[in-house]
Amino acid sequence: MTIIEHALYGGASVYKFDQKLFWWGMLIGLFPDIPPLLFAMYKVGAKKGLQHFTWKAISEDIPESVYKLYDVTHSFVTVIIVSFILYFVARSLTILVIPWTLHILCDIPFHDSRFSTRFLYPLTNLHIHGYSQRNHRWIHIVNGFVIVSIYIWLLK
Ligand SMILES: [Zn+2]
Repeated sequence: MTIIEHALYGGASVYKFDQKLFWWGMLIGLFPDIPPLLFAMYKVGAKKGLQHFTWKAISEDIPESVYKLYDVTHSFVTVIIVSFILYFVARSLTILVIPWTLHILCDIPFHDSRFSTRFLYPLTNLHIHGYSQRNHRWIHIVNGFVIVSIYIWLLK
């Protein structure tokens, strides 16, 4: 799933609760991919890191530490911890864990290889070998249809 698709799902997931949070929903919807992307760009260079994370050119140079950060931002354990912190610090923003949760749920069936979503990390490395968008382009067509349908429903 592309970063734009994640953002659109994220914005849609909070729109009915509070329209003012739409842009925050979009931002949080793409957030789980940003820290590991920036860290990869720092470790192997901007071009190589960006190509790796957009699956245009998989790089063997990406260090394991990038994947560990990826595992942390794609874990329900992290989401639960952040939810508790938000609940006690800024309760009205707790709703923003919905786009984050949705991001992880969307990644579980559509990532493979080392990008397979270890959704309970660090408790376990449990993951599935999903249908990656790299090898299954039809996923974008289905996603586009679903996203357009959701936004037609939201905006009518
Ligand atoms: Zn992701």
